[in-house]
Amino acid sequence: MAKLELINITKKYITEKKEILAVDNVSLSVEENEFISIVGPSGCGKSTLLRIIAGLEKPTSGKVLLDGKEVKEPSAERGMVFQQYTLMPWRTVLKNVTFGLEIKKIPKEEQIKIAKKFIKMVGLEGFEDAYPYQLSGGMQQRVAIARTLANDPEIVLMDEPFGALDTQTRAILQNELLKIWQKEKKTVLFVTHSVDEAVYLSDRIVVMTARPGKIKKIIPIELKRP
Ligand code: ADP
Ligand code: ADP
Repeated sequence: MAKLELINITKKYITEKKEILAVDNVSLSVEENEFISIVGPSGCGKSTLLRIIAGLEKPTSGKVLLDGKEVKEPSAERGMVFQQYTLMPWRTVLKNVTFGLEIKKIPKEEQIKIAKKFIKMVGLEGFEDAYPYQLSGGMQQRVAIARTLANDPEIVLMDEPFGALDTQTRAILQNELLKIWQKEKKTVLFVTHSVDEAVYLSDRIVVMTARPGKIKKIIPIELKRP
């Protein structure tokens, strides 16, 4: 578990034609094991903010702190799940999930043990040797979640992870994500354009304004979870 702090994050994109202020002075403190959703109109800087937290992009100014320490590069403690198309089609489910563990040079038997545990956790036991094209969209996204969790991140960053799924699959995966989150005690930052989804999943909802993306409001949710 880890505490995440964003301090005055600003991001400007400078293109040939213009300057775009994508994120404007965002500060946010996320508690350990908290589930936070970020909502706001399209283009308000949600993905940019998540990529900055992940270390995939540098802020123009401001800092990302993890347990008080500034982080600038991507690392395993901040795992990301994207909307789609992130599995490696030439690798089986098992080999997709072991990918990060191979990079960390974890012994092969251990890799397989860890991967199997998370494949089971996302409900795909028995699909270890399947290839992504053999799976439905929902199942592929389960693999992506398993792959991220297998790296044992302290913070899970999710960018519209269920955005490409139909309503029913989405509801199933929302419930499974909640169960996993309760069991694994991860801190989650979840970007969505669905306010319903944010209310259902989160402890707090961060509402961003249209460009330039600022925090408009932070709403605590006091509903009891299922
Ligand atoms: P959201 O996720 O809320 O839809 P984004 O973070 O994707 O918003 O984008 C925020 C703003 O920054 C948008 O106006 C978008 O066009 C712009 N933007 C995002 N990435 C880039 C980039 N690499 N270069 C230039 N502009 C960008
Ligand atoms: P989507 O709606 O995106 O296609 P789902 O994950 O809901 O994705 O799966 C669709 C179908 O795939 C299910 O109706 C089921 O037949 C099969 N399926 C999904 N998960 C499993 C599983 N864990 N075991 C067996 N079959 C599954």
